[in-house]
Amino acid sequence: MLVSGWGDGARYLAADLAAGGVDVVVITLNPEGAAEAEAAGHDVLLGDSTKRHVLLEAGVTDARMIVIADDQAEAAGRIAAVAAPLAPRATVVVRTREDADIAVLHAAGVHKLVTGERASRHHLSATVLSELRETTTPRTVVDVTRLVAFVPAADAACPHLPENRPVLPSAPGCEECLRTGDTWVHLRICLSCGKVGCCDSSPNRHASAHFAEVRHPLICSAEPEQAWAWCFHDEDQIRPAEATRAVR
Ligand SMILES: [Zn+2]
Ligand SMILES: [Zn+2]
Ligand SMILES: [Zn+2]
Repeated sequence: MLVSGWGDGARYLAADLAAGGVDVVVITLNPEGAAEAEAAGHDVLLGDSTKRHVLLEAGVTDARMIVIADDQAEAAGRIAAVAAPLAPRATVVVRTREDADIAVLHAAGVHKLVTGERASRHHLSATVLSELRETTTPRTVVDVTRLVAFVPAADAACPHLPENRPVLPSAPGCEECLRTGDTWVHLRICLSCGKVGCCDSSPNRHASAHFAEVRHPLICSAEPEQAWAWCFHDEDQIRPAEATRAVR
């Protein structure tokens, strides 16, 4: 497990992981942070995480997870762009204070994004959802830190595909239903803005309502085993590219 940066987020995460028996290597440019991380019992490398040789020395190729904690999303993206290709099996997590350009981070190889603002915003709905799960049948919980990118099959004919972009899910369940305390059957994710809504078999049909309201034409399913996207304009499914089916 590789941690780049030593802010509050990284500090707590590293402590949790170390307590769980995970080896943590911290890379930081800040000598004070390095001393502190070392005192906390982590392996520390004083260096620049955008440098390939620094990442290699820190063992990036064997890392199962890379956490990039940087106040600035742009700087985090630059680190990810160097680190991700060196560690094809690692989950790359960016933790940043400010809002980030999701498309840029996705292109840089980032899988998960946690911002301070989102973390607090989703706390309540996540709590509500875990209560719901205890009282009803088990349902899918959407990982709000995971970047969702739908890759269409090469022969996909939908003319609205330019509106398909990498997004971050807005909530762990249907955003509107969580607000009102309603339930749903399946979850859909808007491929233009990431809004999570409920399917047309659900009482409130919030995914369709979102299209009616803002005209974002494309959704994908948030349910495991359902790799397709759907175009509301064409009222037709869009097949995913062959190679992406298994990993969604
Ligand atoms: Zn279409
Ligand atoms: Zn709903
Ligand atoms: Zn949308």
